[in-house]
Amino acid sequence: MNARTRPAGSAAPAAAPPPRPAGPPRLSLTVNDRCTGCGACLLTCPVHAVRPRGGALFVRADLCTGCLECVEVCPADAIDEAPEESP
Ligand code: SF4
Ligand code: SF4
Repeated sequence: MNARTRPAGSAAPAAAPPPRPAGPPRLSLTVNDRCTGCGACLLTCPVHAVRPRGGALFVRADLCTGCLECVEVCPADAIDEAPEESP
């Protein structure tokens, strides 16, 4: 298909935005200093995206599905969420 045969109103492939991956929007989660180290988020995360590092916790964005179960289970409101920045 080229520009002459493409249906009227359809975008050229090169100009089309990349499709957003299926599933919930990707989030960037950070563990703030209210964390008490209770471990509830580690036990809850279904994909083991919460990891210890240097005596604190961080969330591996490459594994996180954005389900927010860790945020819901955290008793200290210690997990902050923000939309993942565009590359
Ligand atoms: S949002 Fe879900 S997948 Fe991501 S770290 Fe929290 S529990 Fe794990
Ligand atoms: S659930 Fe909250 S307080 Fe407990 S380890 Fe995770 S971030 Fe820290």
